[in-house]
Amino acid sequence: MKTPMITRYEGGVHTDKLSTRLLLPEEQPESWKKVLADSVTDPEELLGILNLPKTLLPGAISGDKAFSMRIPRPYIDRMIRGDQFDPLLRQVLPLGEESEEISGYSLDPLAEQSQNPTEGIIHKYQGRLLMIVSGACAINCRFCFRRHFPYGDNQLGGESWKQAIAYIRSQESIHEVILSGGDPLAATDSRLARMVDALSDIPHVKTLRIHTRLPIVIPQRVTDEMIEWFCKGRLKPVLVIHCNHANEIDDHVAQSLQKLRQAGATLLNQTVLLRGVNDNAETLADLSHTLFDAGVLPYYLHLLDRVQGAAHFDIAEEKAKVLVNELMHQCPGYLVPKLVREVAGEASKTPIPIN
Ligand SMILES: *Cc1c(COP(=O)(O)O)cnc(C)c1O
Ligand code: SF4
Repeated sequence: MKTPMITRYEGGVHTDKLSTRLLLPEEQPESWKKVLADSVTDPEELLGILNLPKTLLPGAISGDKAFSMRIPRPYIDRMIRGDQFDPLLRQVLPLGEESEEISGYSLDPLAEQSQNPTEGIIHKYQGRLLMIVSGACAINCRFCFRRHFPYGDNQLGGESWKQAIAYIRSQESIHEVILSGGDPLAATDSRLARMVDALSDIPHVKTLRIHTRLPIVIPQRVTDEMIEWFCKGRLKPVLVIHCNHANEIDDHVAQSLQKLRQAGATLLNQTVLLRGVNDNAETLADLSHTLFDAGVLPYYLHLLDRVQGAAHFDIAEEKAKVLVNELMHQCPGYLVPKLVREVAGEASKTPIPIN
């Protein structure tokens, strides 16, 4: 397959960081599992690979103890060597600040632990619900609410799976099932294919949505089997990727996304607004344009969930509004994501008015 060209916004500022890695013929479709198993989990190894100062080690070790560090190597390949402020590194490097307890930041900011009608299901919004397919993620993002959610106790399997399917069948208002996690694509294709088969048998379910970071982190995850169970069945496929910075999209990622798009999937992106990662209008505009070049439209720009350990990433709402206003001046409307916050108990994401 021909490698799509990624035309960079602003005259190719980032082209030096674009990986030229191509999909090698000897790569097995399931090689993503090997890549996943080979992730870097030792902070000292990470600092060595990136040529970063040892002074970062004590903070990284203490953060790793609270929420373990986990970074697949293809993601590390896109970081800039020697730069401790690299926007990809910032998202995954454990820091000492994470152990500070800050008022207003809780262990379960979304109060999701009390929204389960049956195990593995979160039904908060009308017409759509989340299924927690896998508690695992390919990467552990430091800002994520998942750092405290007991997903280990809340996964679908055996009896709970049957109950979940029975629940969806009994709720005719549900038109869309969202596979979530953790990262749903951390589950195997054969397990996902079986799940999608069962969902396809429920007539009122029309759309299958997946929220995932895996195609960004390990692009090999977009296998031919995945295309088959996701794009070739009765349900309309919608893929929402979680991409926070243009540098996360290299040629291999773009190629995997194009494959999904060519197979008919609608591709959207959600971003978390993060201090030190993407908190300026140029970075956000660059992200929108890079996504568009890869066939993805921006969907949501989330204000941070106030989860303990992530306060150092927070951007004040006022600043966020200014950023989105600037973005509206720089980009066509379809490249401006909706600024939202998730508020426990609300019937949808809560839009933040810009003006
Ligand atoms: C975000 C979310 C959804 C999806 O909301 P959309 O606005 O349709 O993207 C559904 N259920 C839960 C519990 C959610 O948190
Ligand atoms: S759920 Fe998403 S943001 Fe959270 S750790 Fe997993 S991949 Fe990262």
